[in-house]
Amino acid sequence: MEKKGLPILWIVIPCYNEREVLPVATPQFLEELNSLISMGKISEQSKILFVNDGSKDETWEIICKLAAENKQIIGISQSRNRGHQNAVLAGLMEAKDKCDITISIDCDGQDDITAMTQMVEEYLNGAEVVYGVRSKRDTDTFFKRFTAEGFYKLLNAMGAEVVFNHADYRLISSRVLEEFEDYQEVNIFLRGLIPLVGFKSSSVYYERHERLAGESHYPLSKMLHLAFDGITSLSVKPISMIAGIGCIVSVIGFIGIVWAFIMAILGNTVAGWASIICVVCFLGGIQLLSLGVIGQYIGKIYMESKHRPRYIISDRTWEKYERHYKG
Ligand code: UDP
Ligand code: MG
Repeated sequence: MEKKGLPILWIVIPCYNEREVLPVATPQFLEELNSLISMGKISEQSKILFVNDGSKDETWEIICKLAAENKQIIGISQSRNRGHQNAVLAGLMEAKDKCDITISIDCDGQDDITAMTQMVEEYLNGAEVVYGVRSKRDTDTFFKRFTAEGFYKLLNAMGAEVVFNHADYRLISSRVLEEFEDYQEVNIFLRGLIPLVGFKSSSVYYERHERLAGESHYPLSKMLHLAFDGITSLSVKPISMIAGIGCIVSVIGFIGIVWAFIMAILGNTVAGWASIICVVCFLGGIQLLSLGVIGQYIGKIYMESKHRPRYIISDRTWEKYERHYKG
């Protein structure tokens, strides 16, 4: 491994029912790959890896055909549709040992393919993770923009830290992927998990384009599902919120009890009213508070059950970290 060459890049592209897009997008990906090769930034062994996510149309047949025609193109297929995040993960894990850097990108051309040049540049300057960030969303409809930006705000408010307006267009070095492999959880939300791994990171800004062809597979319902997945797999803040509400309800309950007492003493009440109000207030407060406490323990158990690495060491003074390319 002493050999120091150019880094091998694998572009990882998830595809689900992308029959119409693939023939248009592939030449663009190839052009970018070959331009990076001719600029002398990446190795000639660099490849494009298509991940078929159990498509119901001819996507896999098209990928097989493309792979047969061009040795720069390869493909893997998932046994069934498992969703975008799992498709990207499958591709990244497949690539991890065979390349030095991966760039994941959607196949629909919405993310600026030419931004890869800048991403590789950032990597060569020392970044291990480079986030592609959308600077503008002019081509998105108002509704998509509103819901998508609300999505990032909601995630951050609920304790899942994500890079604003960064989707799954990013460069990750194989070194980071090796550490990431230790995150063995099943519910994965890459946008929130990759920042957890750490290492030097940087961002590249680009304008978002329109889809080359076909239709989005991320309607509002799927986006809400993704946001819910992101929050619940990264944060236990909702549980803490229950505990917080429990405290507030307990205080209100206490005030209610005092109020019922005063009313009973003043004789403004019918018989039995004060005792019922006291019981209701007391039980309401205590129940929600107890749920909050139990929830805190469940939150801890949940986080423990993920068996995430407790620390990752990136550098040692006696071990100068140098990039030894696989090329
Ligand atoms: N995708 C996938 N599996 C799915 C849904 C989508 O692999 O179940 C892929 C899809 O082919 C595309 C990317 O994920 O490359 C993003 O999907 P899409 O463009 O439909 O989402 P949007 O950009 O509208 O959010
Ligand atoms: Mg898209």
